[in-house]
Amino acid sequence: MPRPHFPLTIMEFQERFATEEACRDYLFACRWPDGFRCRRCGGGEVGAMHRRRAVWQCKRCGAQTSVTAGTVMHKTRTPLRLWFWAAYLVATHHPGISAVQLQRQLGIRRHETAWMLLHKLRRAMVAPEREPLKREVEVDEFFLGGVEEGHEGRGPGAKKTLCGVAVEVRGRGSGRVRLATLEDASWNSLGSFVKATTSTGAIVHTDAWRGYLPLAKAGFDHRPRSQRAAVGEEPYLPRAHRAISNLKAWLHGTHRWASQEHLQAYLDEFTFRHNRRGNPHAAFRTLLGLSTVHEPSTYREIIDELPRAA
Ligand SMILES: [Zn+2]
Repeated sequence: MPRPHFPLTIMEFQERFATEEACRDYLFACRWPDGFRCRRCGGGEVGAMHRRRAVWQCKRCGAQTSVTAGTVMHKTRTPLRLWFWAAYLVATHHPGISAVQLQRQLGIRRHETAWMLLHKLRRAMVAPEREPLKREVEVDEFFLGGVEEGHEGRGPGAKKTLCGVAVEVRGRGSGRVRLATLEDASWNSLGSFVKATTSTGAIVHTDAWRGYLPLAKAGFDHRPRSQRAAVGEEPYLPRAHRAISNLKAWLHGTHRWASQEHLQAYLDEFTFRHNRRGNPHAAFRTLLGLSTVHEPSTYREIIDELPRAA
């Protein structure tokens, strides 16, 4: 049996996943693309049961498997259709979508539900591909947040956060991107960032900041360059700078404001979108946790990460 077909248009999506049953069938096909196989006894005959809870029982040994186990939807009380729509919108809406937009578009009554859906889906954006960047990479650090229009002196966002960006050089264009918040601009922070994102031996372009100097000793082909030497040469770290300005435009345009505490989650979302340009089905599956198993995250866990209201 081939992989389940993925709708390319919103009309097709609406028809394809019109009911809870259609969503469960899709999950079933994702879990057992070659037909049902019991994890315990290897039996291939399934007696459909608890369809409401998307739990299937093996006809031979009675073992039960939930098609949502290991996915972001496990033990959810939110309808699968809502999850599917949220993941579809997040995956295909290129600039991304805010909790407020999601709530409006899906007619979700409680803002908390929309917010939780979005944050759970974002969790899947953290480690979709941990394959390190290769060959040639531009690395830079930059500040995010701080005082912006309409946010003067308000809330937790008044402080600026240092972030690191690493972008693969692919001809004249950009390959994959990695982003992370950094403690400071010391070798300790910058070195950890480069080591975590880039394979040893790669060419690493940076500016001449001394925090990058030990890179050569750490096994990278380090090519530092002074910003002043850039006259007449090709632009200075062009891919890193393009990624930074795209990120800032995206953060400002879509989310208006990213709170300090969740900044890394927004960086992950940007990375996810950048690295998955042009493959909505892969994005959709990853978001729902259908391609990788993720630690479960509950609303309580997410809420506990929030700072106490001021
Ligand atoms: Zn069995």
